[in-house]
Amino acid sequence: MVTRLSRLLTPTLREAPADADLPSHRLMLRAGLMRRLGEAAGLYALLPLGRAALARIEAIVREEMDRIGGQEVLLPIVQPAELWRQSGRWAVYGEEMWRLRDRHGREYCLGPTHEEAMTDLARLEVRSWRQLPLLLYQIQNKYRDERRPRFGMLRAREFVMKDAYSFHRDDEDLARCYRDVYDAYARIFARCGLDVRAVRADPGAIGGHGTHEFMALADAGEAEVVFCPRCDYAADVEEAEVAAVRADDLAGEQGRGGAPRRVATPGAHSIGEVAGALGVDAAATAKILFYIAEYADGRAAGPVAALLPGDRQLNEVKLGNRTGAVHLRPAEQGEVPVPLGSAGPVGLHDVPLFTDRRVAAGGPWVVGANDEGFHLMGVVARRDFDPGTVADLLAARAGDPCPACGAPLSCRRGIEVGQVFGLGTKYSSALKAHYLDAAGVERPMVMGCYGIGVTRTLAAVVEQHHDDNGIIWPGSVSPYDCAVVPVGAGEAAARALSAGERLTEALEARGVRAVLDDRDERPGVKFKDADLIGYPERVTLGRSLADGLVEWKGRREAEPRLVPLDEAAGRIAERVRAAGGGVGPQRGATDGR
Ligand SMILES: [Zn+2]
Repeated sequence: MVTRLSRLLTPTLREAPADADLPSHRLMLRAGLMRRLGEAAGLYALLPLGRAALARIEAIVREEMDRIGGQEVLLPIVQPAELWRQSGRWAVYGEEMWRLRDRHGREYCLGPTHEEAMTDLARLEVRSWRQLPLLLYQIQNKYRDERRPRFGMLRAREFVMKDAYSFHRDDEDLARCYRDVYDAYARIFARCGLDVRAVRADPGAIGGHGTHEFMALADAGEAEVVFCPRCDYAADVEEAEVAAVRADDLAGEQGRGGAPRRVATPGAHSIGEVAGALGVDAAATAKILFYIAEYADGRAAGPVAALLPGDRQLNEVKLGNRTGAVHLRPAEQGEVPVPLGSAGPVGLHDVPLFTDRRVAAGGPWVVGANDEGFHLMGVVARRDFDPGTVADLLAARAGDPCPACGAPLSCRRGIEVGQVFGLGTKYSSALKAHYLDAAGVERPMVMGCYGIGVTRTLAAVVEQHHDDNGIIWPGSVSPYDCAVVPVGAGEAAARALSAGERLTEALEARGVRAVLDDRDERPGVKFKDADLIGYPERVTLGRSLADGLVEWKGRREAEPRLVPLDEAAGRIAERVRAAGGGVGPQRGATDGR
């Protein structure tokens, strides 16, 4: 049956609502993929085109999960509080958990995730090591009661996730599954046309097992990612290691050797002012930053100092980890024993000092003299001051050497679209999900969990694939592969429409998802909508139809090309297939083109 745009619910908009800031949010509304539900923030209805694109992503996810032995299940969205109490998370999950009661007053939540529920299933059904490993997944709505839902599908309160959970005899078997899922995720995102980087997060944070986040590179991303263009190193900018450099790399204009020299720098306080006053590069200065650290272990709050190259930013997370503080705030004048604008490490006492390893290894440096209006030149760590704790304290930035291979790093923002986690026995121990090993000994199952934000992936695809005119779908995800657009007036219009119907049928017969724009609209309106919705291919039937020709144009192409009407379906089908579009094995295309 021919799909007719006149009957399809695709309410395109010329303008996006004012509160839609991101390209994906704007374009998904304008192209008629989704609508907000009433006045409710963060709740969206997917319309036919949005649902179709999501279904294609889901199909890719299913294929790749099934390929590594995943078994699809479907657990309730509503979960009893009891399971969450057993894991200890009911009390700590916080306000993002959507909680409810039934008529008997029993407590439940709308699942934000399913570790507890899946672990419950495994403890009831798995008895023996012979039943392991087990990899279960589902594609389902999840709930997060965001305080400020915004950015459309990127941070909705109800969203679609693929979540998977694996159960193993030991860490080794978990590691094998983790690699399988990691590889499957790489294939899934590549097939969706997404440019992603797998970021290795701090393994210490989740009990010694690994975790990777898959970040889709896009300006709308919530996190900053540094990555290597030469090898596969990638890290969150908060986590990224900044490689130490050799001492002689940093030997500046001051030369080495000799004792520090005291110089007057009246009125110069900022790094720029000091460097300017002394005629040195900002990279030859070292700045000291004071924070008031608060501790959880009963130690009194007090100042700490961080010493780093003057042209670099401090990574407060790294400093926090080194000091053991739970909270750091910038110190104010009077809270430290030296004048803040002229502070330095030489002669600094009574404040714990944390020195970045570039400062410890390099120099000599220009530093504050702890005397208003004076600085010291030619200062070297260890010779002239005690560096205290030496550590990497810097925020990574583009151009830093890759810690793995040394190539200059790139830096982009990223949207987290997937994550893989080695959980270990955290949940199986808490919920007593045990199995009997080959020797008959009862052991907790070793677990992994693996998520993909499916609606997030859809929004990320739009973030990565659009221009000023609209969406540019990758062939694998596009709701339709090809728009067939009859134009003209009077009798010519009727001829174009009936030729368009036959062409749409011919495309469908070749497995191309085609839609016929049979609306009574001007050609300009039809073309604008086709660009906005972003069909990969467009065929126009108009004036040249009298010569047996149609105009064929890819979404990324500037100009259409003329092709014979009777060749169009075959040639378009070929290109759609090559781009990963189309439906299953070719249906009906038995005419041996
Ligand atoms: Zn590298």
